[in-house]
Amino acid sequence: MAVGGSGSRLAPAVCGVKAFRGRVDLVFGPAPVAEACDAVISGARARRSGARFGPAIQDVARFRLAGSQNSIAPMKKLTDDVWVLEGFPPYAINVYLLGDVLVDAATRFAAGRILRRLRGRAISAHALTHVHPDHQGASHAVCASLGIPLFCGAGDADAMETPGLMMQKMRPHWLSRSIGGIWQGPAHPVSRRLREGDAVGGFTVLETPGHTEGHVAYWREADGVLVVGDVVCNMNIWTGLTMLREPERIFTPDPALNRRSARRFLELRPSLVCFGHGPPLADCSRFHAFIASLPRDT
Ligand SMILES: [Zn+2]
Repeated sequence: MAVGGSGSRLAPAVCGVKAFRGRVDLVFGPAPVAEACDAVISGARARRSGARFGPAIQDVARFRLAGSQNSIAPMKKLTDDVWVLEGFPPYAINVYLLGDVLVDAATRFAAGRILRRLRGRAISAHALTHVHPDHQGASHAVCASLGIPLFCGAGDADAMETPGLMMQKMRPHWLSRSIGGIWQGPAHPVSRRLREGDAVGGFTVLETPGHTEGHVAYWREADGVLVVGDVVCNMNIWTGLTMLREPERIFTPDPALNRRSARRFLELRPSLVCFGHGPPLADCSRFHAFIASLPRDT
């Protein structure tokens, strides 16, 4: 599906391209639409037309998976040893490959797509930023299929391993309970409970609680790549517009703690920020300005 191009027939109401101040940004529908699309078109060929993306990712490289016989599959190489596995609409719910470690696994409907895109690659482990249903949905299927261990933040590990506990920890809201219940994946044993300073896929773990108890980010100091999960989002999940935002309160048990976690990023100078939702951002100044603008706590 081309973003906003002629190939967007699958979801014409939710895809488009926004031109603003000489810049072209992705526009796509609400995140809840994303995995619905994914489920419907799972197995279909996603033909890309090389649409122009925002400046942060214009130079993203495209390549075919080794060993794949078809031309779908594209993962996008963002920088050395960092790829994003696209879903539908693009960047609504992101899955990353950091070295040989898969980070996050979208919803349970995404398992087939993720496994197809990983075909032919040696994957050593699967790690999570946090255990919400839009990030751990396909974790069990991926780990079981590839025979790889699962890592997540120590504070989220019990929720990952205990059926029903993740949903109990979410704020009691009809939307999180309904969509979360559909998207969530099965419980799965956690092989490694990640702590501050641990090494994963060439990145260092930063503990960033608030959106979940055990939320973690991944930081590679050598070239300034930062994977923030849902501490900060680069998409309005209701409109699909690309914009920096805090995660929705209805999905965030402790917004004040999440803001404190976000302020940790002010100490870093990332060259590329990768989000759980929304396209990557190479503008560190904008990222810092957004975090600095967050209210001091209420
Ligand atoms: Zn999320």
